[in-house]
Amino acid sequence: MLLGTLKELILYRLSVFARMKDYNFAYKLLAWYQENRRVLPWRDTHDPYMIWISEIILQQTRVVQGYDYFLRFMARFPDVDALAAASEDEVLKCWQGLGYYSRARNLHAAARQIVEWGGFPERYENIRQLKGVGDYTAAAIASFAFGLPHAVVDGNVYRVLSRYYGIEEPIDTGHGKKCFAALAQELLPEGKAADYNQAVMDFGALQCVPKNPKCGECPLVGGCIAFRDKRVQGFPVKSRALTVTERYLHYMYIEVGEEIAVFRREANDIWKGLYEPFLVETPTVCAPEDLLVDKKVPSFIRSDKAVKTYLCGGVRHQLTHRTLICDFYKVELEDKPDDFGRSACWVKKGELPNYAFPRLVVMLFEKFGLW
Ligand code: SF4
Repeated sequence: MLLGTLKELILYRLSVFARMKDYNFAYKLLAWYQENRRVLPWRDTHDPYMIWISEIILQQTRVVQGYDYFLRFMARFPDVDALAAASEDEVLKCWQGLGYYSRARNLHAAARQIVEWGGFPERYENIRQLKGVGDYTAAAIASFAFGLPHAVVDGNVYRVLSRYYGIEEPIDTGHGKKCFAALAQELLPEGKAADYNQAVMDFGALQCVPKNPKCGECPLVGGCIAFRDKRVQGFPVKSRALTVTERYLHYMYIEVGEEIAVFRREANDIWKGLYEPFLVETPTVCAPEDLLVDKKVPSFIRSDKAVKTYLCGGVRHQLTHRTLICDFYKVELEDKPDDFGRSACWVKKGELPNYAFPRLVVMLFEKFGLW
């Protein structure tokens, strides 16, 4: 067999692994499930409506939080006709407090789709076409309601499979997702899709949990590569690619006699609650000759009466998701202005160290002996 690409090679190896470990993994998991399964109102039913509602509620919501919402939702909209006949406002009201309101709007739109189609779809491909239903939810409904052989892959499944098989493939890339989906599908025991899917999810939620998994009492410990290699916390692997954006900050150390103007950051942004000198932010690089005539800068600073000194520029400061690029000015004024546009706090130079400033600002103050 010729394998043209690395991608195919990995998929092939995973599939061989899956077949070899089928007994060890899947059947031990099913045995564990018989002993440890969670009793939940949406478990002992094949009603696709009930299963669908529970799966949508449980996206981004823990079972303890979603449980009462599920009961309330089912009491208010006991079947798909009731949900389709309701107004969107009524559905949102019932969802109030659960967050991610697009889930409720999608449920409502999909209920109308189902009524239009004449009933709940019974094929995976058709279930997948419902608004707000992705691969995971479609597989859950198809297997739990109709016993169809579709494997679920959610956060629990990624964790359990990556640890047990020691899979280094990142779970947040297209290729990684494809590998895990292929492995999960291979592992599905014939005729037991519903129980197996429930089992692997419960196992991830109760036994192979993100922090401190219960390896000491785990039925899979003998074959678990992460445990063997003492790397349990190293799985699943995520790609390190972070989206880092650049921000251009121009700080102005405004001095009137012995006092300096500082400002508390109030917005929901970096450094909320900390103090800083007067700040002008620009969307791109802005040279001093352009900045000091820009309308963003208050007129009393642009005025010839203000003594402006460009102290430094292009200072880079790295945060997790942002690179800050900072220019720093000193502005000496004769009188305290009252039109900053935000409320200033006038602080004696010697008292600046009593205020909490970001590390970048402290570094600038220290560099120029400004406190
Ligand atoms: S041994 Fe630990 S890490 Fe491995 S499957 Fe069991 S609980 Fe998860």
